[in-house]
Amino acid sequence: MNVVKVLVAAPLHEKAIEVLKNAGFEVVYEEYPNEEMLIELVGDVEAIIVRSKPKVTRKVIEAAPKLKVIGRAGVGLDNIDIEAAKEKGIKVVNSPAASSRSVAELTIALIFAVARKIAFADRKMREGVWAKKQSMGIELEGKTIGIVGFGRIGYNVAKIAKALGMNVLLYDPYPNEERAKEVGGKFVSLEELLKESDVITIHVPLIDATYHLINEERLKLMKPTAILINAARGAVIDTDALVKALQEGWIAGAGLDVFEEEPLPKDHPLTKLDNVVLTPHIGASTVEAQMRAGVQVAEQIVEILKG
Ligand code: NAD
Repeated sequence: MNVVKVLVAAPLHEKAIEVLKNAGFEVVYEEYPNEEMLIELVGDVEAIIVRSKPKVTRKVIEAAPKLKVIGRAGVGLDNIDIEAAKEKGIKVVNSPAASSRSVAELTIALIFAVARKIAFADRKMREGVWAKKQSMGIELEGKTIGIVGFGRIGYNVAKIAKALGMNVLLYDPYPNEERAKEVGGKFVSLEELLKESDVITIHVPLIDATYHLINEERLKLMKPTAILINAARGAVIDTDALVKALQEGWIAGAGLDVFEEEPLPKDHPLTKLDNVVLTPHIGASTVEAQMRAGVQVAEQIVEILKG
């Protein structure tokens, strides 16, 4: 009997490799091969696993006559030619829920970091400055959090916010009332959410309707004491308007994990602002999220190839 070969073309958690091996598959590992090398490697494989790299192009797909499934450990399928895969009847699977809790926890971490000026105070300590007076913060208990986009991540943020004793406002064009009830949340209009919230956090996909959803006009609706968090996609916020809002005090601060341009250019105006906490798109960067992403994709591949 022919052994089923699976090409793992990106770092994958060992538990995911175990899932493939336990299914009796032969695992070929090559970290981020270029297109030429990938074409050489896919000749006899039935599945390929990638992350945000390498690119699975039409050429690669056409060089893989036995290929039945492409797995993306994580979210986003921009590096896979979906159309070419579809034409050949090749399934594409991913693990969009694997990092939801991790992104939600980073969101909460950013809220605390801004509310308690943790990054600012830490920077000052390293400069030898005991900035006790300038580091006055706010408590979260009893404050209102406005969650824009109540999907997987928004729901996880809401669960933690509820546990912190925050009031939860929600905005989503497709409201899930049952889940809202579970977290004690209330659906309101975007305008009301922006006006009433002490913390506003964005968890929408980047689509035409959400490009620059948070613009100058909407930033002006927020309280001057409000904190804005974005761990979704950079372009959901108009960065120039946000810089202005932070410089001119329309809002109090921001916590950002994602940017319109990534990596964030050195010396970007955001890096000059003390009321902003910046992280380099690390929402899904946890041991647990990476393990889940790998295992979920490996399990789907086993099911497809064995089913
Ligand atoms: P999801 O699809 O589960 O939820 C998105 C929600 O947004 C849905 O409920 C949808 O109805 C809602 N929505 C759509 N259009 C909207 C609009 N115009 N206004 C308000 N809500 C709208 O997605 P998710 O898994 O929760 O991911 C949310 C975001 O987080 C995505 O942008 C994703 O790319 C991003 N993300 C970031 C990281 C990171 O590392 N920072 C990691 C994973 C995902």
